[in-house]
Amino acid sequence: MKKKLLVGNWKMYIEKPEEAKRFIAACKRKAQNISGVDVVLAPSFTLLPTLAAAAGSRIKIAGQTVSPFDDAQHTGEVSAVMLKAAGAAWVIVGHSERRATEGALVPAQVAAAHNAGLMVVLCVGETERDPSGAHFSVVAGQLAQALMGANGKPAAAKVVVAYEPVWAIGKDASEALPPAELREMVIFIRKTLADLLGRAVGIKIPILYGGSVDAHNAPGLLAEGDISGFLVGRASTEVTSFIELMRICKK
Ligand code: PEP
Repeated sequence: MKKKLLVGNWKMYIEKPEEAKRFIAACKRKAQNISGVDVVLAPSFTLLPTLAAAAGSRIKIAGQTVSPFDDAQHTGEVSAVMLKAAGAAWVIVGHSERRATEGALVPAQVAAAHNAGLMVVLCVGETERDPSGAHFSVVAGQLAQALMGANGKPAAAKVVVAYEPVWAIGKDASEALPPAELREMVIFIRKTLADLLGRAVGIKIPILYGGSVDAHNAPGLLAEGDISGFLVGRASTEVTSFIELMRICKK
């Protein structure tokens, strides 16, 4: 069985290099005997070099977003090449907190990341649910937009899909998606990926879940949801809860 993947999105929770270094030092100490799970952390841009230097090879580093542009005249942007040079091997694309204002950029961001050789965590997810099941077509549309690319060239290589229902992000664990509903969505995402990219390619793309995951709901989501791991926000910013999730993922 392939190793599970645990991706931590620090957003703006951890702000200073000292905090990031403390986190990594404690994490390395406490996780010494935890193998069998791949771990990725996404700090803010300013912490990328600090974290990359402190993390060593056990923990990989991700950008939280990436510029869709590769030419120089874009003030304030951070390109995929810059992310890679700062030590990132991964990047999160299409997180709902960015998709809200720049969803149209997702295909170009995926292309930019791939051109620089970065792995992409592609976030998809509906903002709300209604009984008619419209959330399935929302997710299918997001997958098609991102993976059929700006130029219609399929982008299947180096992609992990993170299903994150927006309504379940940043809540209490009791408000996360029930495992049975996750399973239903995972089956749907697999079918959509197979339709878009061909079965042989589509079924190999790992699917993560994100949205109020913690040590209480993670085992059920993992066991019943048929997922390859998690994308976590808040629970990745506290060493004890992050280590606990590493342990759960390695089982
Ligand atoms: C996220 O924002 O990607 C996320 C999953 O956040 P949280 O775990 O805090 O709900």
